[in-house]
Amino acid sequence: MEETTLVRKCLIALVGFSLAITHFNAVSHPVADQAGSPTLPHAKPEWEKDGSRVIYDAFPRHSAKEASRDIVVTVSDVTGTLTPATLAVERVSQDIGARGYADLQQPFLPNSRHSLLRSQRADWIHLMPVHMNGELKFRLPPGRYVIHLSKGLEFKPLKSTIDVQLGSLPLRVDLQLERLFDLRRLGWWSGDPHVHIERMSTADNEEIFWAAQGQDLNVVSLLAMGDRNRIFFPQYAMGAPGSANEGDYWLHPGQEDPRTADAGHLIVLNAPTLIRDRARYRDYIAVARAARAAKAVIGIAHFKQNESGSMSAAEALLPLGLADFIEILGLPYGFDPNQYFAYLNRGYRIGVTGGSDFPWGGALGDARTYALLGPGVPLTPSTWYEAVRKGRTFATDGPLIDFRIDGAPIGSVLNASVGTEVEVEAKAMTNAFNPNFERLDVYANGELIRSQPFAPTSVDREATLAFRHRVVTKTWFVFVARQRDRAVAISSPIYVDIKQ
Ligand SMILES: [Zn+2]
Repeated sequence: MEETTLVRKCLIALVGFSLAITHFNAVSHPVADQAGSPTLPHAKPEWEKDGSRVIYDAFPRHSAKEASRDIVVTVSDVTGTLTPATLAVERVSQDIGARGYADLQQPFLPNSRHSLLRSQRADWIHLMPVHMNGELKFRLPPGRYVIHLSKGLEFKPLKSTIDVQLGSLPLRVDLQLERLFDLRRLGWWSGDPHVHIERMSTADNEEIFWAAQGQDLNVVSLLAMGDRNRIFFPQYAMGAPGSANEGDYWLHPGQEDPRTADAGHLIVLNAPTLIRDRARYRDYIAVARAARAAKAVIGIAHFKQNESGSMSAAEALLPLGLADFIEILGLPYGFDPNQYFAYLNRGYRIGVTGGSDFPWGGALGDARTYALLGPGVPLTPSTWYEAVRKGRTFATDGPLIDFRIDGAPIGSVLNASVGTEVEVEAKAMTNAFNPNFERLDVYANGELIRSQPFAPTSVDREATLAFRHRVVTKTWFVFVARQRDRAVAISSPIYVDIKQ
């Protein structure tokens, strides 16, 4: 009961860190499937009176009643340079009174009025991620804590146990992050194409960059979100004037509009302006045509088989060639590729994305998209979005993948004569704290043509499936990698056409 109360306090107050003592073993809990339209898992949003933006509980400043100690966490890369990262603190001792949160002396996206939400990602389930710019100060009462540290899907995550005793000097915790994989070298760059954070001016970018870098998301798409009456999460400018860059990291505006319960949610990326006509709000085709004319990229948000809205949008736009991607992965909505496969079987060539839908989806990058620019192609929002448009993508909330047919990467269109044997290579990699592949599956025209299971005891970080497949008709191939903790990655297709 005590624990339940404590957890509820955390959820209601939506405060800095989760120090809930009930969640020590929760990292391996599966992600729950939730049917229907997304609702905020932990807070009821309230609209500001003028309707301009959504407000969650304001970020509270905790007034420490108990004695506590300053903690300073630094995170560096292998060269010793401080580097942004994502961190959560979990309390694992119960030796002092119930405390639901820590006094975080650093803001988190304060411009957005968002309090922290619990990550939905399998490796981080129930933990509240805080993004820090290499150094973070906070206060903790005495006790034992685990500091969870991560930086996206290519760095090895850490857990560090600290015992806090009272003292006048800050307790320093210096952590170092090791890169396990480097997909940039193969031309793959990560992004979250579905994030809602309002930006009233360029001053709002700094902490969003912390989050982007702390989650290792190279392109974060900040979507103004509409309904017939209003725009939520407004952006200070659309198109290039609304773009911001720091090194290999970009913030770029976009829109999720129109949005209706029965006809779905449209995402438009990389358009120079907001494309919106309130008088014809339900005319999705007109919006998609305008987006196409503006060379923007068009997608169907949080696509799910039983969600009639997203299917209506797909049915309207796919026959007209007016959709470029289906957002197939977004937490906590679950994963079901069957309807997507049905569209591919009807001959539509359309790629996949994953996006967090923050603040509905927990943390930035909980689900994400990797896009293949190709070796040597410079990363810009335009090159990244162009790769999304071409279906050179995979969506993931855990595994990283490399998938090739006859050496050609995801999104390729190949030509073969009837009866040709093509070479299929499917590789999965994981930075999970406890690596735990469940199986690797390759589909051709919707049929599972090869499945490689793993023993529950498997601790492989990398796994490869290689085989030959005889092509007798026009064929699409998709690769799905699953982890036992239910994290999943799905490729966009590789297409093989038949030579006449
Ligand atoms: Zn959204």
